[in-house]
Amino acid sequence: MKFVLASNNPKKLIELRAILSGLGIDVISQDEAGVQIEVEETGSTFEENAILKAEAVMGAAGIPAIADDSGLCVDALGGAPGIYSARYGGKGCKSDFERCEFLLRNMRGEENRKAEFISTIACIFPDGRTITARGACRGEILKAPRGSGGFGYDPVFFLPEFGVTMAEMPAELKNKISHRARALHEFRDKLGKIDLK
Ligand code: IMP
Repeated sequence: MKFVLASNNPKKLIELRAILSGLGIDVISQDEAGVQIEVEETGSTFEENAILKAEAVMGAAGIPAIADDSGLCVDALGGAPGIYSARYGGKGCKSDFERCEFLLRNMRGEENRKAEFISTIACIFPDGRTITARGACRGEILKAPRGSGGFGYDPVFFLPEFGVTMAEMPAELKNKISHRARALHEFRDKLGKIDLK
């Protein structure tokens, strides 16, 4: 069965495909589905934004759509950047690197480095059926970036139990323990319980 990923982020597509492989689910990109839209994230929660994206892309593609809305929530910043993670720092931050630097500047002198990544998955079928799932992964914000793998805030997100940042760990490991992996496992369990015909 074919699903379209409601995202223009090629790295998310790679992670989703890797995690969902073996399920008989073929995840295609918006490009492959012929959908050229960028959905505005006007919701006030990860779940609302995931549903907005999945609904819009399902409507345009006519096949089930999966969306991931995710972000980094830092305890000492009251949960920021949260749903604004991709836009953190506004126009002054044009790359993942600049957003990491902006975060590190905002946390200068802060002792409490605890943070978590959150991922919410929404899957919407043309008949309106909707599945949502959520995953979290707790860690700490380093004082300087480390590693070149992954994307987004991975270079500053340290996992004490592994002794590495998410950008230093092999992709296979990230895809087992990440917020996205956890949300997708819950999604997989829920999907297994519905009739796909
Ligand atoms: P959105 O879900 O497309 O709105 O964007 C989520 C943003 O959160 C990304 O652009 C990244 O900045 C951040 N983010 C989400 N998941 C990850 C991850 O696995 N690693 C690092 N950053 C992430």
